[in-house]
Amino acid sequence: MSIDRLWAPWRMAYILSNSGSAPGASPSDGAQECIFCRFPAEGPAAYETHQILHCTQQAFVIMNRFPYNSGHIMVVPRRHTADLMQLPDDEYRATCELLRVSVDIVTRELRAHGCNLGMNLGRVAGAGIDQHAHFHVVPRWNGDTNFMPVVGDVKVISEHMQATFDKLRPAFAQLSSASSPMTQTPPAPRGPHGF
Ligand SMILES: [Zn+2]
Repeated sequence: MSIDRLWAPWRMAYILSNSGSAPGASPSDGAQECIFCRFPAEGPAAYETHQILHCTQQAFVIMNRFPYNSGHIMVVPRRHTADLMQLPDDEYRATCELLRVSVDIVTRELRAHGCNLGMNLGRVAGAGIDQHAHFHVVPRWNGDTNFMPVVGDVKVISEHMQATFDKLRPAFAQLSSASSPMTQTPPAPRGPHGF
């Protein structure tokens, strides 16, 4: 059985920029430096800038700026923790519910043939941001392992990402107006540890 792997060379800039602290350096694991805490806390006016597709008090959906594939999004709990066991049950459930809704939207709107879902827990497991747990949703299409290297250019990727954001946003906006426990209420102020 052959395994086709996505080749995403543009991610190297991201990986190199997050190579971690040198031994002995003070750890930078605070919520204040964490983009998964900071971006949604900036409020709806900054959602487009940060490519946030949907945000609730418990979890949010954001495009990955260094995608493994077109339409690569992340579903992230609002609480700053690297440990899933530290998420209260309701926040874990809200994140997982948003995960499956996001998979549904991405699959439908982008006509994906499949999806990779996953979490990289810890830097050793490949987490780019290892202090704040997050799910990856990577849509897949037949033949996509041959497609992305062709457009593997940062400028092309960023233009493509904006088009994908614009395509997905209306579907997520419907989610916000639907009668569900998820709302777009501005988040409650959080302390330095994200609680
Ligand atoms: Zn965080």
